[in-house]
Amino acid sequence: MYPRIVIDKKKLFENAQRIFNMAKPYGIGVFVVTKVHSADVELAKISLEAGAAGLADSRIQNLEKLKDLPGDKILLRLPMHSEVDQVVALADISFNSELSTIALLDEAAKKKGKKHRILIMFDLGDLREGFLPEDVDQVIPEILKFENILIEGIGVNLTCYGGVIPTTENLGELARLADHIEKTYDLKLNLVSGGNSSSLYLLENGEMPSKINNLRVGEGVVLGREAAYGEHIPGMHDDAFVLEAQLIEYKTKNSVPKGLIGMDAFGGKPVFEDRGMMKRGIVAIGRQDVDHTVLYPVDSRIEIIGASSDHMILDFTKAEGDYQVGDVIQFKMDYGAMLKLFTSEYVSRVYLD
Ligand SMILES: *Cc1c(COP(=O)(O)O)cnc(C)c1O
Repeated sequence: MYPRIVIDKKKLFENAQRIFNMAKPYGIGVFVVTKVHSADVELAKISLEAGAAGLADSRIQNLEKLKDLPGDKILLRLPMHSEVDQVVALADISFNSELSTIALLDEAAKKKGKKHRILIMFDLGDLREGFLPEDVDQVIPEILKFENILIEGIGVNLTCYGGVIPTTENLGELARLADHIEKTYDLKLNLVSGGNSSSLYLLENGEMPSKINNLRVGEGVVLGREAAYGEHIPGMHDDAFVLEAQLIEYKTKNSVPKGLIGMDAFGGKPVFEDRGMMKRGIVAIGRQDVDHTVLYPVDSRIEIIGASSDHMILDFTKAEGDYQVGDVIQFKMDYGAMLKLFTSEYVSRVYLD
């Protein structure tokens, strides 16, 4: 059935291994982040076989899918008050930045007769989650009072909201915070987690502060690139995941609609460039399944010109005689497209060995 995502398991394995090999000389373990493929168990297994230090996801429903796999499961998004029981049950480690939530996790862990491990997030400028570094000495003593909470480490997230790039300065600040906490409170931090795929370029440049011993990597593994500058990492695959959609109409039509122009299906006012008559095709996929602005036809003569909920319109003018209705069109994708494709129940998955 189409549309479908074709996943080359060997390429994914090689990508994961390549990232782990980049990190290993620095003493850095890598949690593979599974949210971009909605914690597909088949794909999570590949990351473990390649040597992932753990599997991490933002959503507790995804960790539930992974619960029978070996190794640590890590909840990346700060827990909601309403989910602390599931968090203690399904996550070995959760990321936290609110004392009220940690207090609820402590109670939930007590009920289960468990200790729950947390990673304390610090905001070093990106303005998403994290305690402010200047509050460290108010926060740590409070957390140490919870009997069923273990401080596994500290971490930072960058380049997600504010676009702040990891550098020797801000990750150096994380390293100093780690040293300070270990000395002041006589603690050993198992994890000093220096970010996501946007930190990979520091490994490539040999600039990762030595105290950092963990990264959480999603995009780097699936797309073979670092996320600070969006550069392809040499030797990695950008086509481990390929979308296939089927042509359901193929006709010569005008490039400009005829009639009075109102709103499109999403409330936008469309504008059109007059390119005369063109060869146009429709593939059976749409904005319900994918972000068409970050899809790239493998045949570079084809151009995506737009999409509604369940139709995507392509310009075939440069490839005129080579296609017909029923043909399957292939696309490479960026992160935002992949995220939606794996979330859509209308898109199937094929795994190549
Ligand atoms: C999503 C996420 C990651 C992974 O990000 P990538 O850019 O895909 O590597 C890491 N850490 C946190 C906290 C996240 O939310």
